Amino acid sequence: MKYISLMGATGSIGTQTLDIIREHPGEFRLIALSVGRNIDLTRKIIKEFNPDLVSTSERSAAKALEAEFPDITFTYGQEGLIEVAVYHKAQILVNAVSGSVGLTPTLQAIKERKTIAIANKETLVTAGHLVMEEAKRNEVSLLPVDSEHSAIFQALQGEQHKNIEKLILTASGGSFRDRTRQELENVTVKEALNHPNWSMGAKITIDSATMMNKGLEVIEAHWLFSMDYDKIDVLLHKESIIHSMIEFHDSSIIAQLGTPDMRVPIQYALTYPDRLPLPTANRLSLSEIGNLHFQKMDMNRFRCLRFAYEAGKEGGTMPTVLNAANEAAVAAFLEGKATFLQIEDLIERALSIHKNIKNPGFTEIQEVDKETRKYINSLL
Ligand code: NDP
Ligand code: MG
Repeated sequence: MKYISLMGATGSIGTQTLDIIREHPGEFRLIALSVGRNIDLTRKIIKEFNPDLVSTSERSAAKALEAEFPDITFTYGQEGLIEVAVYHKAQILVNAVSGSVGLTPTLQAIKERKTIAIANKETLVTAGHLVMEEAKRNEVSLLPVDSEHSAIFQALQGEQHKNIEKLILTASGGSFRDRTRQELENVTVKEALNHPNWSMGAKITIDSATMMNKGLEVIEAHWLFSMDYDKIDVLLHKESIIHSMIEFHDSSIIAQLGTPDMRVPIQYALTYPDRLPLPTANRLSLSEIGNLHFQKMDMNRFRCLRFAYEAGKEGGTMPTVLNAANEAAVAAFLEGKATFLQIEDLIERALSIHKNIKNPGFTEIQEVDKETRKYINSLL
């Protein structure tokens, strides 16, 4: 029986992680969880899974739930997130929060030698070097949940890193893949939230529409697979059937395929190196699909992807700025304070004024993250 701590239990990845735990009651037990503000759903999750420990964003919510569930320990805020991440009975931490708020709890969980199933890519983008160093020092595995990285991780089994020619990340193109830049000027939040293939949280859906999601994933792949940026390619593939691939020196390409269903990579991270059946998953029928399409990525059309490559290659605190500026700009767009195309302008401005700090420590990362958000908000 594997005991699981789950950060972000009420979100898109969080609830799909609950599906997997529910499907295999003999394999997994949900022992601790964190949520944000969705207290109605939290109540249902507590009743179904009866965890030991629950953290909410707000103190008032923790207090209200404590009165309802006297046998469960409640905590809150950033400290609460950390308590859930390091909960002593858990072997695996599933990090499914959105944003760089996941960084500190992840570092703490690594120090406590938890296996980390990581969906929270912003943590790897903002401080990938710190996370990877800490994981190496503590001999902790970071198992990817992001579908592209899970695909690469699966294709890598039994292979050697030295034989890799390049990684090929596939991209669906997001909600606006068939629109020109001009047509993007007046798009609404509602249109941007309408992703063609995947149903996800709001922030990552906007990231998919701006292509920043793929940019963040390039940096995520750089850290998870210690791969140079010039060996990471992005390929438009609108069907989202090939989840990503590895090209080897001998020209062979190994890909992982499936219908778009995040429960598959979530389950693989939880069962690795084993696999379990997933009876409720839609099986892929290539004969029904008939054709798959691929297209070269246009870096001028998708400026955020270019910013991410540039920030990643420069290293230091540039990826921290990229991530924090993006989080603040996307939040502003969702709140109606910025237009869709302003997202990339805001990020570009934050990157252009930043004085890069090479090899930043934890405190510098936190500082730059905070300053960047402040700067973006001052521009709005
Ligand atoms: P959601 O927005 O659906 O869920 C986010 C979760 O984190 C919710 O439980 C939310 O709580 C909680 N949360 C948000 N902010 C805070 C905070 N400040 N403190 C504590 N908890 C917080 O996001 P997704 O599930 O879509 O994405 C989660 C991560 O996984 C992201 O990093 C994303 O990039 C990555 N990912 C997601 C995929 C997907 O298909 N959704 C695919 C691949 C990667 P509440 O709702 O209760 O307020
Ligand atoms: Mg992905």
